[in-house]
Amino acid sequence: MSSTPVIGLLGGGQLGQMLCEAAAPLNVPIAILDADDAPAKRINRNEHHVAGSFKEASKIRELAANSDVLTVEIEHIDTTVLEELATAAKAVPVHPSWKTLRLVQNKYEQKEFFASKGLPVAGQMAIETGGGMWASMEQAAASYGYPFMLKARKDSYDGRGNFKISSPEDLAAAESEFGHVACYAEKWVPFVMELSVMVIRTESDSAPGVTKRLLPYPVVETVHEDSICSYVYMPPRGLVGERLAHISEKAQAVACRVIDQLWGRGVFAVELFLTADDEILVNEIAPRPHNSGHLTIEAVPYMSQFKAQLTAILDRPLPGALEPHVQSAMMINVLGGATADAHVPLIEAANATFSKGLGVYVHMYGKEAKPSRKIGHITLTGTTMSIAELEASAAQLIQLAKST
Ligand code: ATP
Ligand code: MG
Ligand code: MG
Repeated sequence: MSSTPVIGLLGGGQLGQMLCEAAAPLNVPIAILDADDAPAKRINRNEHHVAGSFKEASKIRELAANSDVLTVEIEHIDTTVLEELATAAKAVPVHPSWKTLRLVQNKYEQKEFFASKGLPVAGQMAIETGGGMWASMEQAAASYGYPFMLKARKDSYDGRGNFKISSPEDLAAAESEFGHVACYAEKWVPFVMELSVMVIRTESDSAPGVTKRLLPYPVVETVHEDSICSYVYMPPRGLVGERLAHISEKAQAVACRVIDQLWGRGVFAVELFLTADDEILVNEIAPRPHNSGHLTIEAVPYMSQFKAQLTAILDRPLPGALEPHVQSAMMINVLGGATADAHVPLIEAANATFSKGLGVYVHMYGKEAKPSRKIGHITLTGTTMSIAELEASAAQLIQLAKST
């Protein structure tokens, strides 16, 4: 084993690819468990990789044997084997902790836990499966009114486990689509904006809590289209002066309080709703690098969210604060369109966009384009531009992204 600890990574998609991009200049070896043609493996050849799926316990054990510490790029993972590895006599630490992964992969339990800790979340109630489903949906409608959200407890991403129930007419469709899935109902939040705060968390393995530290990135605005986080703005648009300072502080404080309740080291995303009266509610967290943190690669170049993940896992020094090097930044997701090359005009336009004080950075993930699949992202930075000016500079690219 090399003197720098080997980090074993479950999953080698685009988040793993960007983690490897951050690890290479630091000489941090990453062992990846995924198929041989996974995006992260293609840019990081070494002798520690394991070919296979993170859904197989034996493969996770094989990865652990090649690694000094394990981490994940996705939270939808069987945590039984991770618990076994982390608590064995010859333990392989898992960061973030398997306890965090187990809690957050069930969105209902996650939010019950946050509510029990006094954190602000939308109202939610359990929905029965099978025969009792209809009655419990009617109970949710009586408590919350229409619309309300029906959500799958587990395995959801990009809104795929969500069903908006707008009126009693939607109940039948909800029952036929979600009748066999463990669900819950969530009160509709009439948010004015969605925000996200990435938080770095450290904690000692030997004495939990002793070296605990929570370090938030600047708050960003996220815009979802068809429940996919498609655009990210830093700072959030339309907030200026004292109101921006107040909301930023509040969002960062809530995000740190949320992550404070979890276990283990790493980088975490806290998805938030901002309401008309400037209240902040927690939507959900992701215990890993996140779409809303991609722009840190260029905006906070000395400590991107990927470098932060490595730094936290390896328990290396962190800065006192995470200050951006630019005044504004935005991210545009590149999604696959109806045809295999529908996204090409957007990429070509991005590669041809040059202007003083404007940075345009294309990140492609080497994935085959399929409709609505995340195949890349584009970050724009404005050295001295406001977010409104940066958005205006990106108008053509935003138009092309919308028409892909
Ligand atoms: P992710 O890809 O972020 O993991 P997910 O499938 O877990 O997504 P959620 O984060 O629960 O889904 O919801 C996706 C989006 O749907 C939110 O970002 C928000 O735009 C909208 N949404 C979710 N819950 C509510 C709610 N209670 N009220 C209003 N809108 C909501
Ligand atoms: Mg989610
Ligand atoms: Mg979400």
